[in-house]
Amino acid sequence: MLTITLNDGRTIPQLGLGVFKTPPEETERVVSEALELGYRHIDTAAIYRNEEGVGRAIAASGIPRDELWITTKLWQDHQGGDKPFAAMDESLGKLGLDYVDLYLIHWPAPKTNKFVESWKSLGVIRDRGLAKSIGVSNFQVPHLQRLLDETDVVPAVNQVELHPYFQEREIVTFARQHGINIESWGPLGQGKYPLLELPEITAAAEAHGKSPAQVVIRWHLQHDFIVFPKSARRERLRENFEVFDFELNAEQMGAIDALERGHRVSSDPNEVD
Ligand code: NAD
Repeated sequence: MLTITLNDGRTIPQLGLGVFKTPPEETERVVSEALELGYRHIDTAAIYRNEEGVGRAIAASGIPRDELWITTKLWQDHQGGDKPFAAMDESLGKLGLDYVDLYLIHWPAPKTNKFVESWKSLGVIRDRGLAKSIGVSNFQVPHLQRLLDETDVVPAVNQVELHPYFQEREIVTFARQHGINIESWGPLGQGKYPLLELPEITAAAEAHGKSPAQVVIRWHLQHDFIVFPKSARRERLRENFEVFDFELNAEQMGAIDALERGHRVSSDPNEVD
């Protein structure tokens, strides 16, 4: 399995499973199937309301805790004051874990201006061992700059919407200059754009005997992005994990790079409160 070493020295499996919109009642089944297929990295969030299902699948798997990477996220209504500590405890309780591998501020919510204060709390959460690594999500360059200027902890990752139609190059460049790894969310464009039908992608898929989704996942991996496509279907969980036996060449990577359109599938982080 491919891994990436973060700026705190910890090693994260580069490919995982995301469970945004995975229904709570299906989550245990989906995560159990993923773990059986070899996934070791699960990306959830308090707001997904399925941390319990993730926790049940982990407990049932019998996989040693230190072989798993579990990420969850702090929702905006728990930013500021003591709220991040209560939110961390609640997530750990639902997951049935003593610690998570990665705890993220889900959105900066800049209008409420609590993200710097909340980031300092995540530093304390890390010092207490409740989250082994800490990071942020949906942070734009000015938000990252404030953390660098006003605190002494550099996020291990910034998890942002990123796919061939929306490549966030300014954020990627800035983050990498400061040792922050990029996690791509919505890596397949959430199925909202016909990404998987574009000729640049289907041509590469045909050339390698792979599916378009596998080509797009491979594109993320070869750009050193951490990626966790979502599916609730066993055959797609398998497909999305069978991406370690081929490599896109420079021409195929370049053709997909050229698909950048500045098209978000989701909200502008400056507008989310
Ligand atoms: P995604 O790009 O992973 O798209 C998932 C959709 O793609 C599926 O619902 C399905 O329609 C389609 N799909 C999946 N596998 C396929 C295959 N093999 N062939 C064809 N179609 C396929 O979108 P996502 O779920 O939004 O993103 C992945 C993860 O990122 C989430 O589950 C979540 O963990 C995380 N995320 C984080 C944020 C954030 O604000 N931090 C926001 C959204 C998602």
